[in-house]
Amino acid sequence: MTQLDTAPVTGGTRPRHHDHFIDGDWVRSSGEIIERRAPATGLLVSQVAAGTADTVDRAVAAARRAFEDDRWSQVSGFERAAVLHRVADLISTHAETLARLDAEEVGKPILVARADVAGAAQLTRYAAGLAIQMQGTTHTNNGPEHTGLVLREAAGVVGLITPWNFPALILSQKLPLALAAGCTVVVKPSELTSSSAAAIARLYAEAGLPDGVLNVVTGDGRAGAALAEHPDVDVLSFTGSTATGRRIIAASAGNLKKLSLELGGKAATVVFPDADLDAAAAGVVFGGFFNNGECCVAQSRLLVHTDIAEEFLAAVRERTAALRVGQPLDETTDVGALIHEAHLRAVVGAIDRAEEAGATVLVGGSRASSPQLAGGSFLVPTVLDGVTPQMAAFSDEIFGPVLTASRFRTTEEALALANGVDYGLSNSVWSRDIDTALPFARGLRSGSVYVNTVIDGPPTMPFGGYKTSGIGREMGQAGFEEFTELKSVSIRTGTRPGRFTIGTPPAS
Ligand code: NDP
Repeated sequence: MTQLDTAPVTGGTRPRHHDHFIDGDWVRSSGEIIERRAPATGLLVSQVAAGTADTVDRAVAAARRAFEDDRWSQVSGFERAAVLHRVADLISTHAETLARLDAEEVGKPILVARADVAGAAQLTRYAAGLAIQMQGTTHTNNGPEHTGLVLREAAGVVGLITPWNFPALILSQKLPLALAAGCTVVVKPSELTSSSAAAIARLYAEAGLPDGVLNVVTGDGRAGAALAEHPDVDVLSFTGSTATGRRIIAASAGNLKKLSLELGGKAATVVFPDADLDAAAAGVVFGGFFNNGECCVAQSRLLVHTDIAEEFLAAVRERTAALRVGQPLDETTDVGALIHEAHLRAVVGAIDRAEEAGATVLVGGSRASSPQLAGGSFLVPTVLDGVTPQMAAFSDEIFGPVLTASRFRTTEEALALANGVDYGLSNSVWSRDIDTALPFARGLRSGSVYVNTVIDGPPTMPFGGYKTSGIGREMGQAGFEEFTELKSVSIRTGTRPGRFTIGTPPAS
């Protein structure tokens, strides 16, 4: 059985080391090494090889050979599904190890990391089902002598670039679906959180994935940029910031790659007076502070009706103050450490600027003062009241445990506020009245809407953004189709009367 390198989460004293995984081999890099310190403790936990353009080139060449030798792209969907089911089983077997790797490197609570890994196994199983069902269409409506076949085919070599906030989960929103379609893959995980991607690559190898079908190049944005501009990559699926997404669009122009971009968000939670206010307060706090607020679907803007604002904000403040900030591996922790010290400073800077602009801190607002947390980048979960659309805190993604609160009087005003940002990834609405909630949901300009719930939905539903939150969809049938191409085959039988109207010799 595969041994995963888990030191030091299991108490070891040496950092983990990850090489690149290319063509079925772990390729030691002689170049630069990137060190990762756990954000909760400052201890060195892993070292990864810094991939270069040459490393990316080798990985893409391996993926191209694997695509063309047909051991994966041309086998039956049942064979691909069998491998993916074995991977899902292995992810479940190693779930606790994978969760601890992500909790340690991200600083996220272990309970969240466990849910991520369970989601990764579920997505892999879902992808197995898609492998079996991959199908095109037939067209017989163009006369008796024409039959049209629309073939759905694997798109080719796929590059996957993933961020640090949900390492195992976001990898699994992309990788198994690309493999289910018959594509071959080069993954570039975030330099900050490479361990679970390396571990998952070992599990795919153990499950029998042919060499070269999955390759992992570790490293920083330079390796990501090399993948984005590589002329032999057919599809690039990226999750990360909108700023990097824009760079990827430019870099991919050379060979006009097919792009799928899951970018930032600035979701609103809209609370109407007729909502179940207890449930809504619980949802607002979960949506704002889940995964330390380092979440593209963080419901980071509360919009509350003026009639209930005071009472509702008191409930939100009380629940926020009760959140336990603590070590990621502690089972009782609700909010862990932010990804690194520089990010913590950026989040504190955003809070300070909001205060200078006239917002009030209802709770939190500073780094955690407990001596047990002194070695890490911990912030007290923060609620800012009186935030107006003119303030940067209303429209800029803060990506930390910071919730802003604004008030509205009418449904029209609430909709304008919710839609009044450049992002459009997700939003939520709380009302017991379907005649309020449903038209409001339909008016929201975002790829996901949660009604009387937050951050919810199975992998069968597509996920992605309107506006600057992205291009394309992940998960669901739509997410699967990002990794496929359609080929229209026209077949004509019979006498072909009069179809070819040029080049006909004159009648003698
Ligand atoms: P980044 O955009 O900084 O990085 C994402 C990935 O891209 C990392 O692997 C990074 O490498 C790599 N990268 C950096 N520069 C380039 C480049 N020029 N070309 C190609 N790849 C590059 O995002 P973060 O990792 O900081 O993640 C946080 C951001 O991601 C937030 O804005 C958040 O909203 C968004 N996000 C969106 C999600 C969605 O589904 N819509 C989900 C999760 C996060 P490295 O880190 O090693 O530098």
